[in-house]
Amino acid sequence: MFTRTTSLSKSRYCYGLQCLKQLWWRTHDSKAPELVAGPALQAVYDQGHLVGERAQAEFPGGTLVGHEYWEVEEKVADTRAALQARSPAIYEASFLQDGVFVAVDVLARGRAGHTLVEVKSSSSVKDQYLPDVAIQLHVARQAGVDVRRGEVMHLNSACRFPDLSDLFVREDVTEQAEALLPAIPAQLKRMQQALAGELPVVEVGPHCDQPYPCPFKARCWEPVGEDHVSTLYSGRKLSASLLDAGIESLLDIPEATALSTIQARQVRAMKAGRPVVEAGLAKALRTLEAPVAYLDFETINPAIPVWNGCGPYMAIPVQLSCHVVGARGAMTHHEHLAEGAGDPRPAMAAAVVRACQGAETAVAYNASFERRCLQHLADNVPAERAGLRSVIERLVDLLPIVRDHVYLPAFGGGFGMKAVAPALVPSLDYGDLEIGEGSLASTVLQGLLLGGESMDAAERARLRPHLLAYCERDTLAMVKVVERLRELAG
Ligand code: SF4
Repeated sequence: MFTRTTSLSKSRYCYGLQCLKQLWWRTHDSKAPELVAGPALQAVYDQGHLVGERAQAEFPGGTLVGHEYWEVEEKVADTRAALQARSPAIYEASFLQDGVFVAVDVLARGRAGHTLVEVKSSSSVKDQYLPDVAIQLHVARQAGVDVRRGEVMHLNSACRFPDLSDLFVREDVTEQAEALLPAIPAQLKRMQQALAGELPVVEVGPHCDQPYPCPFKARCWEPVGEDHVSTLYSGRKLSASLLDAGIESLLDIPEATALSTIQARQVRAMKAGRPVVEAGLAKALRTLEAPVAYLDFETINPAIPVWNGCGPYMAIPVQLSCHVVGARGAMTHHEHLAEGAGDPRPAMAAAVVRACQGAETAVAYNASFERRCLQHLADNVPAERAGLRSVIERLVDLLPIVRDHVYLPAFGGGFGMKAVAPALVPSLDYGDLEIGEGSLASTVLQGLLLGGESMDAAERARLRPHLLAYCERDTLAMVKVVERLRELAG
């Protein structure tokens, strides 16, 4: 008898390989708040389901093993029936052997044996997929199915809408998966013993983030202070060796330690307990010639492309905020937010060109992202190409101006806008916004534009002002950051 509380599944097996303690919590505390998917993670799952359904269509005439997730015996019985009926493919083919349950995305019948297909919504085969395929091979073979081949079927990043005939790539991973099979019985025994006992003792370490970030880190990791060596900018290796040497605080780093220029500035600021500002800041800020257009895009990344020329996960700009500040400080605001499921790019491209008209400089924070968005629009909206290229030529990145000249202790070792802006301008806060974070904005935008009837008109109307407010805050933050940098530069 399979019980959800004590038995293993293919995903639990993979978690168990990462950490027995994580497996124990995921099994015995399966309603833990850490395991509740937030909107961004839920959106990833939803995309995964869409990709899974689309992948099934590549194996026509198959049999779907339905049922609710807890109806394990019914699933196994239906799979057995589909095998006996010699179905050409079984979607969600389910097997339960020795307390391990697996549901195979697609089990395809061939002339000589079956092929087991694991569908992934990524665009390549990753090492962590191999144990996933291996445990399915193990259980399906134990159940008496003649599985000859294991495949990972993933999205093809070269595919371009509207031709979706090459949306997927199927890669043979039989050899790699079979190499993992001999270890599986002992691994399963170890996991089952751990689950039958008390919470296992496992030290924290790199495995807490590999291959996936563990959701229980707040339970296992001690909170670290603002001065902890793990906050050292771009210093993962160095901080590990400092910790090995018993040095936990940036304040205790010996003078002779080899640090990059930015790390050295960070340590100076932490030791002094106040901002460090380099003499070159004023000169760097002079590159921002007025009028300055502060630009920010929000994008969506559909796994299955929906507009001409788009590939899987391509970032498509669908929202714009732009504050334009004149030489005497006068400020105007421009914004655009796409509506409906039609191609948003022509209107978006026109809005960017209009917003930046007359600006000497266009500024973005971490501008490679905005540059890519502008280039994508230029490639796909010929009518606005010249105007967009002109914006690209005027584009200046604010991030290196901050990173190469300023450090405040409150940066916490990072130079993302969400770390830098509130540190430089404490009145700047995103806490009052319903949508206060980029990945959530992208999730909401995707639902708004492509969610179809899953979102009604009233909800759309409610969300639009929140999206506009979030994007506007991002460009206003850049304006305020530059004002503050000018003060610091004297
Ligand atoms: S935080 Fe690390 S040690 Fe703790 S359960 Fe997760 S993986 Fe295991």
